[in-house]
Amino acid sequence: MMHGLIERSEWRDLEDKVEAGARLCDKDARRLFASSDLNSMGVLANRAAERKVGRRASYILNRYINYSNYCILSCQFCAFARKKRDADGFELSIEQMVEKARKALALGITELHIVGGLHPALPFDYYTGLLRALKALDSRLQLKCFTAIEVLHLSRLSGQSVRDTLVALKKAGMDSLTGGGAEIFSPTVRQAIARGKETAEEWADVHRTWHRLGGRSTCTMLFGHVESASDRVDHLRRLRALQDETHGFTGFIPLPYQPENNAIPVRHAPTGFDALRTIAVSRLYLDNIDHITAYWVGMGLKLAQVALNHGADDLHGTIVEEHIFHMAGARSPQVQTEADMVRAIRDAGRIPVRRNTFYEPIRVWEEEGQSALPAS
Ligand code: SF4
Repeated sequence: MMHGLIERSEWRDLEDKVEAGARLCDKDARRLFASSDLNSMGVLANRAAERKVGRRASYILNRYINYSNYCILSCQFCAFARKKRDADGFELSIEQMVEKARKALALGITELHIVGGLHPALPFDYYTGLLRALKALDSRLQLKCFTAIEVLHLSRLSGQSVRDTLVALKKAGMDSLTGGGAEIFSPTVRQAIARGKETAEEWADVHRTWHRLGGRSTCTMLFGHVESASDRVDHLRRLRALQDETHGFTGFIPLPYQPENNAIPVRHAPTGFDALRTIAVSRLYLDNIDHITAYWVGMGLKLAQVALNHGADDLHGTIVEEHIFHMAGARSPQVQTEADMVRAIRDAGRIPVRRNTFYEPIRVWEEEGQSALPAS
């Protein structure tokens, strides 16, 4: 891409930084969040993305399984958690989980994404037994499991350190930690949306410990509720600092807040404009994280597709059955087919790549990533 495409002089210094591969500072990120010049931002973010991945954009064949929605906490933003007295609470036995996984394997998935609430009674053996049973189905199946707060819960449950808990989970078959639960790291905002949840430092320490064991994980940010632009920049700054230290994050997934069925006094999901701007700023600021995912469950596939030209290079997965966002009001479907993902990526002018949990390519759809519209 040619230098000089950004005509507005206010962006020239940022363009120079992006061209030179120099790191954006917090002030730069705050300027971007304050701007409505999405087009220029998108051009810059695209350059940063293409420097990392060229014209490729990825997706994964995966399935979500929530083992239970019972939770001892009551985060204000959460529409997923239930108490034992609630009629729509659920918990799945290991056999039920294995059955869901068996059916998903027949569809060609390579990853199971498993999270749940902080269950009040399930023993630690349930979690390690579950991992072993799922690995026994197919040793190549990659198990991406648990948020940092679940790991802390399991650590307390088992009476082991976080490190020993992660070692036990890894030994039982866990391949990757999920990035969920980061929400927003600012203590004030955290208190307002997720009182009782782990602190930012505890979230980071679980991931740091996992990375030091040789593990990899993703990271997230829940945006578009009561946080400020400065809170977002603070969140990104903490993630970038941890990545400088461990190099263990494979990708970053900004999660648009869903407003229904919860106790936060915010009635609207972030706009499409804000979602695209957040992706662009994330791509530009998180220079040490290779991949930025446009999460179609929260954005819808059409907006996620547009995000592929605003710094995102990944559409996440086929998913099959999603509860957490849909119980909070997401209107997206429960599943995307591989054909839909490939078409969306190709029509955005990108080369579709089916990836594994660690964003490594499994299949590259070699045909050039041109528009799907016929030439005449
Ligand atoms: S966000 Fe997680 S920890 Fe908080 S109430 Fe919901 S399930 Fe429980």
